[in-house]
Amino acid sequence: MSTYGIDLGTTYSCIARLDSNGNPEVIRNNEDDSNMVASVVFFENEHNVVVGQAAKENIETDGDRVVQFVKREIGKPNGRTYTFDGKTYTPVEISALILTRLKNLVESQGNEIENVVITVPAYFGLEERSATKQAGELAGLRVLSLINEPTAAALSYCARQFQEDRTILVYDLGGGTFDVTVVKMSMTRNEQGKDVQKINVLATGGDDRLGGKDWDDKLFDYILRACCDENGLTQEEIEVETRQDIRSKVEEVKRKLSKKQSAKVRIDVNGARTEISITRAEFENMTSDIVARTINWIDSTLEKVPNVEIDTVLLVGGSTYMPMIQKAVEAKFPGRVQQHDPDQAVAKGAAIYASMLVVEEGSVQGGETSDDNSAEKTPSAVEQLTAKFTVEDQTPRSFGPGVMDTKGSKQKYVLENFIKIGEKMPAVFSKTYYPLEDNQERVRLRAFENMSLEDTLIPCVDEEGNPQITDPANAVKLLGELIVNLPPETSRTTPIKVTFKVDASGVHVEAVNTKTNEVFETFLRTESDIDVEKSAVHQLRISAD
Ligand code: ADP
Ligand code: MG
Repeated sequence: MSTYGIDLGTTYSCIARLDSNGNPEVIRNNEDDSNMVASVVFFENEHNVVVGQAAKENIETDGDRVVQFVKREIGKPNGRTYTFDGKTYTPVEISALILTRLKNLVESQGNEIENVVITVPAYFGLEERSATKQAGELAGLRVLSLINEPTAAALSYCARQFQEDRTILVYDLGGGTFDVTVVKMSMTRNEQGKDVQKINVLATGGDDRLGGKDWDDKLFDYILRACCDENGLTQEEIEVETRQDIRSKVEEVKRKLSKKQSAKVRIDVNGARTEISITRAEFENMTSDIVARTINWIDSTLEKVPNVEIDTVLLVGGSTYMPMIQKAVEAKFPGRVQQHDPDQAVAKGAAIYASMLVVEEGSVQGGETSDDNSAEKTPSAVEQLTAKFTVEDQTPRSFGPGVMDTKGSKQKYVLENFIKIGEKMPAVFSKTYYPLEDNQERVRLRAFENMSLEDTLIPCVDEEGNPQITDPANAVKLLGELIVNLPPETSRTTPIKVTFKVDASGVHVEAVNTKTNEVFETFLRTESDIDVEKSAVHQLRISAD
């Protein structure tokens, strides 16, 4: 089988597939003696680009030639770029280099790779999703689909311990991000009349600047101070090489403390070899505030789904190997915490989903999907496993147009949410509006995404009544604008039908002048395209009267 699941992580990435018995297995990175590939790229010179642990080792010495945490930049508006040796790379291209390294890992072991599913955080918007897909394609992979990371983790958990109708809280503490997601698994009958387990995301929360790196930083400070004390030096007197030496060793010390009660590390302090010891209890003390922050995030995420009872808490992400995390979460959810391969679960779940899609594709095309080529149709282990699940693709945001509400004494610009977060994709919604005035020449129909479940939102408006594109509370974001030209003498009662369609590839906006049947669908996305002639006049209004 040439089908794989990829966890394209902020700090570490992982690739997995199902073996011939239908069990998920991670492809080992023998070069780094690890199951992971560090998501770090080192541009050594114009002929050599290094990805993985070897790249990571250059962070201290050659930091300006190293790119890390690129996942934070992918698909962001006005995204940054990286230039080395006269060549400029986008976050998509950097991500493609990491994906290529994963692809090479498979191929170097004599295996083929063609179809993949790549995981993304549940809170990723459509731009980040399509950029991730693009990165996969750029790496020469056929991206069957993307899947939310917590959904993938839940899938690999269920493949292990199948249970119907569960609500799972996924606690994912990685290297630089912390995500809390509530997912619901429920039995449902699919279109073929078969009972399958459906997985839905109910709520998400977290902090994209909270992760294992915060623990590394605390350890770094501790070891630096200890080095000063041992040698009677001030922090200013510590040489940059010594800092580099500490920096390159903290992650290893942290990992040791997950296994043992204490750890020792040797540091070359300005030329003097110094041994520093630290106990797990000391480490836990100095980081207890960060642990508490993750627990607060659980509370605020659960507030979004007040009537939901959590059956199981899944610990995901490499940082949950730290016993202090297991203890803190166990204290909050006694007897309900589960942890299995926390750094591999997401990739394994993606591998299961990828195989599900290939099985589905095969059954639609009537193709042979079993590993053995036997003529009688006994389902393979992969088919048996994947037949149990269905993953519904859901909208990661709410979407709708900005229109004028003319009811009441003062007209106001409102955002009408056509499609709400969590709806099944593809999602389609239409509504008829009317020009604001007689003889209106055109309509500038703005499309927004946001994180609200309300039917109507009032976006921020500037002094002239122009909508502002930011509203932090609901994360309102202007996606773009559609210009609808109106023929002369259009009246204010001419119906204009507006349609939004959202699918995995993005948002499609369309407006039809139902009097002339003229269709408008050229969507202007970039700010430079739409930042002209802002006016409250060129709008649609909600009611016909
Ligand atoms: P990502 O953030 O890319 O999703 P992971 O889930 O693999 O990455 O988590 C990476 C983080 O987990 C890093 O900060 C790493 O130091 C940490 N980590 C991995 N193994 C351990 C361990 N045994 N003990 C403590 N931290 C660990
Ligand atoms: Mg991760």
